[in-house]
Amino acid sequence: MIIVLQKGTTPQQAEEFGKQLEKSYNVKVNLWEGVQSSVLGLIGDTTSIDIDAINAQSLVANVQRVQEPYKKANRKFHPDNTVITLDNGTKIGDGSLAIMAGPCSIEGEEQICGIAQSVKDSGAVILRGGAFKPRTSPYSFQGLKGEGLKYMEEAKKRTGLPIVTEIMAAEHLPLFENVDIIQVGARNMQNFELLKELGKIDKPILLKRGLACTIEELLMSAEYIMAGGNERVMFCERGIRTYETYTRNTLDISAIPALKKLSHLPVIIDPSHAAGKAWMVESLSMAAVAAGADGLIIEVHNDPAHALSDGAQSLTPQQFDATAKKLFALKNALNSINE
Ligand code: PEP
Ligand code: MN
Repeated sequence: MIIVLQKGTTPQQAEEFGKQLEKSYNVKVNLWEGVQSSVLGLIGDTTSIDIDAINAQSLVANVQRVQEPYKKANRKFHPDNTVITLDNGTKIGDGSLAIMAGPCSIEGEEQICGIAQSVKDSGAVILRGGAFKPRTSPYSFQGLKGEGLKYMEEAKKRTGLPIVTEIMAAEHLPLFENVDIIQVGARNMQNFELLKELGKIDKPILLKRGLACTIEELLMSAEYIMAGGNERVMFCERGIRTYETYTRNTLDISAIPALKKLSHLPVIIDPSHAAGKAWMVESLSMAAVAAGADGLIIEVHNDPAHALSDGAQSLTPQQFDATAKKLFALKNALNSINE
């Protein structure tokens, strides 16, 4: 249930009213303060609440029941877009285009540091790289794990780029101390115990959509993290499993407007894992930007032919540079259309 308060309600009045509701109805109340109005979001069993009695209170402008099972992730609870600010001031969801780029796997210190510098020079604002790799085969390269994270931290130190990397198990969390954004991979989107642990920490989470998960399931996974208190979550659409086999996955562009409508959280697109083919990455990225994505996560490798994972979908630093130029030009053009 959401309660929109009258214009002019002070933050103190809103807070007091929220506390009163929590006591009277045994619910949790989330307060969102906007420029125009404030909204109280009630989470819990609200079936016994008499809407007319709430409506009759002088502070209340209107009351709506929220049918959707996701609450904190719901735009109705938080009408403005959520903007995620990293420690170095980089913002995601503020209307800019946040490009994350780097190799699928961290393969060595010089490799990750070299790629970091080149993607930074091309306009990427966040470095990606996997240390714990969820591979389909147990015989494939599994990642450099803790050693890889150390190389990634070195790349961050040298370039100043914040880093995003995947976690596969909650017990690895102590190793992620210096990571700026923790990625939950597609295969772990419904690992609810992991999501609950990530709800207890204070780091932004990049939540990738599961291979066969619906948009509502993705929203519910974000809700798991947010319910624990960590509200800095961003979605990542990375292609879903369909009957099509030409591409590795099918990029669901419609997830962008859908998620932006249903939720206030930023939406990132991963064209690399969607396509599985490097030559398609640029087109899919352009489509994503045109459809309103807040950012992209793109695989870039110094030597794709010899990459230890996902070489076929990785751009060279030169290809990435050319693609990034087009993406920023498109973003500027869209900004002027939307002005
Ligand atoms: C990755 O980002 O390297 C990755 C494994 O992605 P996904 O979880 O989307 O397959
Ligand atoms: Mn990959």
